[in-house]
Amino acid sequence: MMWTFCPECGQRLTKAEVDGRVRSVCSSCHFIDFGLYSLGAGGIIINEDNGERSVLLIQRNRSPGLHLWTIPGGYIDHDEIIEHGIVREIREETGLETEIIRMVGYRNHLERGKNDSYVIFLMRLVGGHLVETPNEEIAAIGFFAADELETLDNLSETSRYLAMLGLDYRGQGFTSVPIAGRPNIWVEG
Ligand SMILES: [Zn+2]
Repeated sequence: MMWTFCPECGQRLTKAEVDGRVRSVCSSCHFIDFGLYSLGAGGIIINEDNGERSVLLIQRNRSPGLHLWTIPGGYIDHDEIIEHGIVREIREETGLETEIIRMVGYRNHLERGKNDSYVIFLMRLVGGHLVETPNEEIAAIGFFAADELETLDNLSETSRYLAMLGLDYRGQGFTSVPIAGRPNIWVEG
């Protein structure tokens, strides 16, 4: 529960049972407080050079996860869709312009009272220039081949898994299909 007043119309919320649970609800506009959620996204960016594939990792330069290597990404703002948010996050962190090839993974977990979702995309490089490192946010950026991942220190287990997944991706993944006048739907293939 996070709201005292309705975020949509400003009315003071009252308690009522909704879906078998007491929740804060608005009596004037039907807003229901379902609790705290956050949405993040990560991008697996693969580079192919003379047949050798490598994956882009960034090394964080601030907490949490100081000096940890991860795939780039971050939290999606509430007023942008995830397709735009992942491209923005990668641009801000790396300077690179990318586009989505496929959605290849999803994680949901509970974190400090919040329900957190993380969506993983396989991305294609389309331009841009790597930012100067180190900077306030990023200590270093590099492309790593599979054998280098095995010996890289400070690589989070999640990012190690995702980097390997991207280097040897054999699945179909999901693509975003436009529906006339409605939000896109992610479907297999
Ligand atoms: Zn309301």
